[in-house]
Amino acid sequence: MADLVFLKAILQELQQYDSTLVAVSKTKPVEEIMQVYNAGHKTFGENYVQELEEKHNRLPSDIQWHFIGHLQSNKVKYIAPFVHLIQSVDSFSLLKEINKQASKNNRVINCLLQIHIAREETKFGLSVEECESLLRNEKFKELQNICIAGLMGMASLSENEEQIKNEFHQLKNFFEKLQPQLPTANCQLRTLSMGMTSDYKIALSEGSNMIRIGSAIFGERNYNTPK
Ligand SMILES: *Cc1c(COP(=O)(O)O)cnc(C)c1O
Repeated sequence: MADLVFLKAILQELQQYDSTLVAVSKTKPVEEIMQVYNAGHKTFGENYVQELEEKHNRLPSDIQWHFIGHLQSNKVKYIAPFVHLIQSVDSFSLLKEINKQASKNNRVINCLLQIHIAREETKFGLSVEECESLLRNEKFKELQNICIAGLMGMASLSENEEQIKNEFHQLKNFFEKLQPQLPTANCQLRTLSMGMTSDYKIALSEGSNMIRIGSAIFGERNYNTPK
C-alpha cells in the first residue's frame, strides 16, 4: 500500500521549493504504482531496464518514466522509444549510444549527467573534471538527439548530516558554475536532481529542484521476495 498521505504532504512541500518529485517505484508492483498514479502523480523512476520495460508496457502511457540506475550501452535500445529522462549518464560512450538510439526513434532524449559526489568508491558517476571535459568535447556538439537537462548526484550513505550537506553543496556550486558557460543547443542545464528518502530535506535546503523518493512513498524494498 503506497503512502498517499506522505505523497500529498511532500508534493505540497515541494511547491515552496519549485522542486519536482520522482516516485521511485523499483521492485514495487504495478498495483502500487497505480495507487500513486490515481492520486495524480505521473512521474516514476526505475533502475533496471527489463523491469522498466515491463512496467511501461503494463501501465498508462502518460506516465513519465525516468531511468535512474546504471545503464549499459547495449540496453539503451529497449528504453529509447519511451523514456522521458535518463538521470544516470556517466560516460561519453553511453551518451553517444543514447543519441544513436534516440535518432532511430526520431526523438530527442533528455539526460542528466550523474556526478560522483559521495565518499564511497562504489557509487557510479563522473568526476567534476570528467563532466567538464565531456561537455567540452568537440564531438559532444554533434549529438543532436540528446539534450543534457541537468545534473544528478547521490550523497554518501552516512549519518553525518554535515557531510551530506557538503556533498550536495558542492554539486550545487558546480551546477551554478556550469550553467552560464554552456553554449550548445543540446545542453540546457535546468534540473538538479539530488535527494532521496533519507536526505531530501538537506538536498532541498541546498538547492535541489528534483528529488527521487522511493521508500517513504512505497515502503521499504524487500529484495528477497520475487516480483
Ligand atoms: C533507489 C533510488 C532512490 C530512492 O531511494 P529511497 O531511499 O528509497 O528514497 C533514489 N535515487 C536512486 C538513484 C535510486 O537508485
